[in-house]
Amino acid sequence: MIEKLGNPEIGRRGLMLVLSSPSGAGKTTLTKLLRDEEPSLTLSISVTTRPRRPSEVDGVHYFFKTADEFKDMRDRGDLLEWAEVHGNFYGSPRKEIDKALAGGNDILFDIDYQGAMQVRKTAPDDVVSIFILPPSIPELRRRLERRAEDSATVIQQRLKNAKNEIDRWRDYDYVLVNDDLQATFAKIRAILAAERLKRERQIGLPKFVSGLLAHL
Ligand code: ADP
Ligand code: 5GP
Repeated sequence: MIEKLGNPEIGRRGLMLVLSSPSGAGKTTLTKLLRDEEPSLTLSISVTTRPRRPSEVDGVHYFFKTADEFKDMRDRGDLLEWAEVHGNFYGSPRKEIDKALAGGNDILFDIDYQGAMQVRKTAPDDVVSIFILPPSIPELRRRLERRAEDSATVIQQRLKNAKNEIDRWRDYDYVLVNDDLQATFAKIRAILAAERLKRERQIGLPKFVSGLLAHL
């Protein structure tokens, strides 16, 4: 339970904020802005078998693993969810997530639709999911090329997979078109602020209201 909501008797359950999108639509950029501006949000750092990109740091962007290491973690039940995406394995380690939730912190996931569905199944009341769409397919291609961290073959594969991913838009609570970055970021913060105030997340509220009513 974190932050008091206007009254010392009312606290809040942590929530799990899930961001998904086709590759290149802007999840990682938005995740970074969220981490900078919302320090109480804990980022779930995934494990992956994908090769590290030049700009990535092990333990910061991902924990980079061999296929055997990944399988060991998966088979031991160390992953809250996992999926094969663009030919590589990705998963969310359970330990840090459990620790953050137990401490009453909100958690941010940058995961694909397969992972999003698994997390929602595990904790339906605690997941808030947002799907990020690109403004157009030519712009999606431009963003993948401008990022300049993947080979032409990898970019081609990611564009091909975008169709399957975009088809999942209906499975999410919110859908945002990431045209202007700052505008999209402001919308995500508005969603987060509103979801944090949801009646169901306010622990102690029934007791508090009973207390109010007792004095009438
Ligand atoms: P994803 O994590 O969804 O694969 P990234 O966050 O890596 O995507 O973004 C892909 C590229 O697009 C990056 O170079 C990023 O700077 C750029 N980008 C992200 N959002 C926008 C935006 N709203 N307008 C223009 N460029 C953007
Ligand atoms: P990238 O290789 O561009 O970092 O990520 C590729 C895709 O894998 C993205 O859609 C990203 O959200 C997804 N992804 C990253 N980590 C995880 C994870 O732990 N689980 C799942 N299911 N997907 C992930």
